[in-house]
Amino acid sequence: QARRLEGIDKNIWVEFVKLATTYSKVNLGQGFPDFPAPEFLREALLRALSGGSPMLHQYTRAFGHPPLVKVLAQFFEKLLGRELDPMTNVMVTVGAYQALFCCFQALVDEGDEVIIIEPFFDCYEPMVKMAGGTPVFVPLRPNPPKDGKLMSSADWQLDPAELASKFNERTKAIVLNSPNNPLGKVFSRGELGLIAELCVKHDVLCISDEVYEWLVYDGKQHIRIASLQGMWERTVIIGSAGKTFSATGWKVGWVVGPDRLLQHLRTVHQNSVYHCATIAQEAVAQGFQRELTLYGKPESYFVQLPKELQQKRDWLVQSLDGVGMKPIIPEGTYFLVADISPFKSDVPDVPNSDEPYDSRFAKWMVKNKGLAAIPLSAFYSEAHKNNYTNFIRFCFAKEEATLKAASDILQKWK
Ligand code: PMP
Ligand code: GLN
Repeated sequence: QARRLEGIDKNIWVEFVKLATTYSKVNLGQGFPDFPAPEFLREALLRALSGGSPMLHQYTRAFGHPPLVKVLAQFFEKLLGRELDPMTNVMVTVGAYQALFCCFQALVDEGDEVIIIEPFFDCYEPMVKMAGGTPVFVPLRPNPPKDGKLMSSADWQLDPAELASKFNERTKAIVLNSPNNPLGKVFSRGELGLIAELCVKHDVLCISDEVYEWLVYDGKQHIRIASLQGMWERTVIIGSAGKTFSATGWKVGWVVGPDRLLQHLRTVHQNSVYHCATIAQEAVAQGFQRELTLYGKPESYFVQLPKELQQKRDWLVQSLDGVGMKPIIPEGTYFLVADISPFKSDVPDVPNSDEPYDSRFAKWMVKNKGLAAIPLSAFYSEAHKNNYTNFIRFCFAKEEATLKAASDILQKWK
């Protein structure tokens, strides 16, 4: 075994997907929709398969199928208000996962520090380590509202002094994930401004994971840190067609950023996977083409999907609140974190176990109640896993019937 693999052999998704497959009747664990991808996307794939050029079954350009990088450049030109070169400012990857992997391999050296905001999408930590870097964690701290109202993901905040104290001459990059998985926090302009100021002051890069960019609720706005003063040149934006078009199995992702950074990502990409499936890229390109013409209009999928998900969120919030599993209302993403404290007495405790309580709870729940969710501690570093063990994460990108079945399980349990 190569030394770089030491200590990173466990993976929460491998573990919990297996548990969910074996035991769950209702799966609100791993994040994926159980409703179909939109018809226009499925039709685009069918068109590419049956009527399209035979070349769509062959290799395409390594750094992105030309129609896809072109339309992504056009789209992001609109979003960022700057001109983009599809060949140098955009690269297509095998999901956002591979985009992240390319970032860390291309930009992080032995001895470099990378700041990660906790709780975080779990793969950041092993990926930084595999690149030889050292992850440095800074927590979002909960400030529960005093009026007895439900907490919101906005109540989880960075302490500005604590954040500043993590930057030093070894800091190479900070990973930002807004909207954040698992909390659903959508960072405000003020919070992003603070991060941006520190990046510029300490000459630090920003790896900005924006896979949930369209999934924001209550009229909130997703602000792109790359659009703040001094940030374009030091930011790599990461996106995912899986999240954008409810087609997580297609594994089409992308990076958008300055050529001075992307040129190194291209080196990793050309020497690892080379390119992502041509036919999937062709269909995603057509999906974006459609969204470009409908931009901001009510028929746009990027307008419709969050509207539908907001209703699902509200439904699950009510249902959890009703049984006393207090939810933290997410401002974005399709995840929701809930407090399991009142249910604790049901679940046998194992004294002196070093497995965090929420993890034991989630395993017990799927085995005994048939309901799958993900423990929040999975989104914390080893050192901080035991600080937050009273929460589990649910995915609400599900059909009404699925959410109803989850609610029935909880009602009966209560
Ligand atoms: N980043 C975040 C924050 C995620 O939640 C996920 C999970 N889908 C990814 C990246 C990976 O995305 P993809 O499925 O496109 O590889
Ligand atoms: N992003 C999804 C989640 O957080 C799935 C991650 C994965 O399968 N690796 O649930």
